[in-house]
Amino acid sequence: MFDLVTVGELLIDFTPVPSVDRPTFQQNAGGAPANVVTVAALMGKKTAFIGKVGDDAFGRFLCKTLTSYGVDTSGLVMSEEFPTTLAFVHLDDSGERSFSFFRHLSADVMLNTSELRMQVIENTKVFHFGSVSMTEDPSRTSTIEAIQAARVNGAIITFDPNLRPALWRNQDEAKEQILNVLPYVDVLKISDEELSFLTGETTFQAGALSLKKQYQNISVILVTLGAKGCYYLAVCGEGSVPSFPVNPVDTTGAGDAFMGTFISGLLDTGKRPTELHQEELVNIIRAANTSGALTTTRPGGIPALPTREEVVDFMNKH
Ligand code: ATP
Repeated sequence: MFDLVTVGELLIDFTPVPSVDRPTFQQNAGGAPANVVTVAALMGKKTAFIGKVGDDAFGRFLCKTLTSYGVDTSGLVMSEEFPTTLAFVHLDDSGERSFSFFRHLSADVMLNTSELRMQVIENTKVFHFGSVSMTEDPSRTSTIEAIQAARVNGAIITFDPNLRPALWRNQDEAKEQILNVLPYVDVLKISDEELSFLTGETTFQAGALSLKKQYQNISVILVTLGAKGCYYLAVCGEGSVPSFPVNPVDTTGAGDAFMGTFISGLLDTGKRPTELHQEELVNIIRAANTSGALTTTRPGGIPALPTREEVVDFMNKH
């Protein structure tokens, strides 16, 4: 039995490194569901990843990277037909990101339902996904089939839309597809911008409340607020948990570190999200905030993600 299985994009993040004249990029493993599963592995959980990369130098690097963190890659398909997706990350002076994606006809989008490793998907305590794998078919249908298979087998379903507007044909389709999967979700992690995109509400509290009323299956909503930490609306209560002050250099992966650590904390309780007491939830969020904060202090993708010891150490010191 796995603790966590994630499905979706595993890609190369080319992250900028300081250079004197021309911009220089470093090859890193990335993709939100891949980051989330790696964080959980770093937290000591038994994990597996479901997705598709090209059978090229980039794809082999990605597979090797996940394996080196102890993530099971038996559900990672290596395609001879389609190349690995590439993303270039650009950073402004405050460490905020923008992306250039090279994802036309690339492997992660081409994951077919027949390629889903059901043995893995049907044997996990938590199943996590995002919306990037739902931008188009066949990976859209495969993602939905995987969610349903995990769910009927009792998995807790967690979702981070991770909206990347540039990857969708149009924004109405993005909204429709994201709203379509909310009825399957137990824990929703979302940013304030994504909440206002989905609900039209101008405050994150109103946005969260509107989703909570409409989708009563969602027992925990986590609104990540960058340096301000996290607002939660849950069966056990609502409130805010501030993050820790740090000097960010690159915010890539902070949300994923937050989510991987949240899932690990939830697993440690042995409870379903509906059963959490408010104090337990706040403690889990505090660790998740720490993980997100630590990730912003280092450059680039998976190598920036913290270990369990680093998170515990940092929390003890603060
Ligand atoms: P993504 O865009 O990758 O989905 P996100 O918007 O969900 O990310 P953020 O809100 O940027 O993620 O960060 C996730 C968490 O990491 C925050 O809720 C917070 O706890 C922590 N964090 C992020 N940036 C900072 C910061 N500058 N200082 C302290 N903590 C931070």
